[in-house]
Amino acid sequence: NEELSKPEVHIPAEMQNQVALTTLDRIYDWSRSNSVWPMMFGLACCAIEMIAMAASRYDSARFGMEVMRPSPRQSDVLLVSGTVTKKMIPQIVRLYNQMAEPRYVIAMGACASSGGPFKEGYSVVAGVDKFIPVDVYIPGCPPTPNALLNGLITLKKKIERESMKEVSWYKKGSGDGIPVPV
Ligand code: SF4
Repeated sequence: NEELSKPEVHIPAEMQNQVALTTLDRIYDWSRSNSVWPMMFGLACCAIEMIAMAASRYDSARFGMEVMRPSPRQSDVLLVSGTVTKKMIPQIVRLYNQMAEPRYVIAMGACASSGGPFKEGYSVVAGVDKFIPVDVYIPGCPPTPNALLNGLITLKKKIERESMKEVSWYKKGSGDGIPVPV
């Protein structure tokens, strides 16, 4: 009955302004979204703007994103910044597979998103999303450091909306790799 389904919670009067109720999902997403560690992966000119974004003028530490890692094992988001050549794709896919779940990808700039000015060429792929899933695309040639920061904040908002019940990495566990093209 009604009485049994809604048990009364007794909070002492002196503590009533000091108690917050939330869900596990919100705490988990809040912590993850405020400590997104990017893996620097500069492939061409866009990388210069990525490096600038990590410097003090843009202060990505405000959002917990200043810890650029050179290792996929310690990274949450793969920042693909620059021209993706066919020869580089096996390395990109291997690095992506080596990242722990949950993992994310940002395609920075026209080249990483769609091949940019080189997409008709014989050596460049028309977007890294032909091989790995991309969460955020940042337009520009090159995008400004502020645009990259905006892309990282967009990813942060996406993580805040995720639920442990829905996201695939939670259901399937980690370790599902994408076959490395040869
Ligand atoms: Fe260079 Fe433009 Fe391609 Fe970025 S999008 S790597 S700036 S050519």
